[in-house]
Amino acid sequence: MSKPRTNQKRTAIIYFGVTKQDYLNLVQEKKHSALLEYIQPLLKAQLQADQHQKGCTDQSHYTIHSQRNRYLQGLLGQRETISICRVRCQDCRAVFTVLPSFILRYRRQDADCLGKLLEMNLGMGLTLRETASIYSWMGIEHGWQPSWVWTLVQWLGDLLPVSLLLMRMGLTPPAHLLSDEKFAVLNGEKVYLFLVSQQELIWYGKWMSHTHEDDFNQTIEAFCVEMDGGARSSGQLEADDEYVPISVTTDGWIASQNAWGTAVPEIALIECKLHGNKRVSLSLDDYVKAHPELSLEHLQQVKDDLNSILAAPSLAAFSQRIRRNLVRYRDEPILLKRLNILKDKRFRFTNALKFDDAPAYSAPLDRSMRFLDEKLQSFGQFRAAHAIDPMLNAWAIVNNLRAFLPDAQKAGHSLVQFFGAKVKGIPWMEVLNLCTAGNLQNLIPTPS
Ligand SMILES: [Zn+2]
Repeated sequence: MSKPRTNQKRTAIIYFGVTKQDYLNLVQEKKHSALLEYIQPLLKAQLQADQHQKGCTDQSHYTIHSQRNRYLQGLLGQRETISICRVRCQDCRAVFTVLPSFILRYRRQDADCLGKLLEMNLGMGLTLRETASIYSWMGIEHGWQPSWVWTLVQWLGDLLPVSLLLMRMGLTPPAHLLSDEKFAVLNGEKVYLFLVSQQELIWYGKWMSHTHEDDFNQTIEAFCVEMDGGARSSGQLEADDEYVPISVTTDGWIASQNAWGTAVPEIALIECKLHGNKRVSLSLDDYVKAHPELSLEHLQQVKDDLNSILAAPSLAAFSQRIRRNLVRYRDEPILLKRLNILKDKRFRFTNALKFDDAPAYSAPLDRSMRFLDEKLQSFGQFRAAHAIDPMLNAWAIVNNLRAFLPDAQKAGHSLVQFFGAKVKGIPWMEVLNLCTAGNLQNLIPTPS
């Protein structure tokens, strides 16, 4: 997924300003002196020596080699002709295409148009058909098929892994993780979508055919390898260092917990308290059915006793409450069974208390997954296994980068900004485009 295409090596992506006009002003000037002055330091920061010819000793001086026209389609029907420059290294004479960040390689539509189509389809729950219809209402391009929107989603998903994107936007790999798996359907068979997040922010998604421990082992290993690679290449980790998350919060699925322990032996396993509470409630229901003779008052006492355990403020208090209830209910097999499970899981239910940022509940990931749920419904079922991971990656990118809608608590901001990324007012599709070329921080001109 992360392998760059070969001709991508000789392309630079440059941010020229808020509007297209900022770019046009520079590129339309006859002598190109202002253009060269603007792009030289950015090209130097972006283009690595291995993208030049062998033996090139100076990657900081360029001349304009040629110019050509490119058609660009906007969302509102306008079709523009934009001039694109190629520059030549003065040392080794290698030629590079310079794309303004509002143009994406191999796409006819501009960044604004692509970003909005992808938001409609992956962020707002519109179907492929609805997205294609809206696009064709907007203007001059006719005959847009739903399958083209599908191709667009796959293109986004193959552009770069969401984890690498987040790191190139300046985010450090998360210390505290949430992980969960969700049902989907592939050719009539049940499959699972495995997701890793930092609260609502999605870092990883991969489909699995089963939920045996072996499947989790492979998938979690792949996650760790991807994180290592991205962290090293983006400078978030030293070249010989490894990504080691401190904790992971999961639901009670034991195969997943075991696999996390195998992949990261030091990791603190945290079990979502909501799932714990639900299981306590089920045991209480069974107890009530088995004892129709008991008074409401007595039943309330039993409920309070059991519910106090998961609400304990420390491991010591948790363990003490278990001990007291084991004595109190020593003749009640239904309650004893639940109490012994809670005892076995005492560390998993209290580990979150040890860390400031470790979530005790998996609800934040569920909130992000709700949008994925809607998406899976509107996509219907998957028909091709190879299409699932790119779709998951594309969905994760849009989930993390698009701005929240008006009236939302964080309206106008995106999740990734909430987690500390500095996007400097640049639209998300242009940020993504820049991040395909390297770390965002190095690609935006510092104000003079
Ligand atoms: Zn060169």
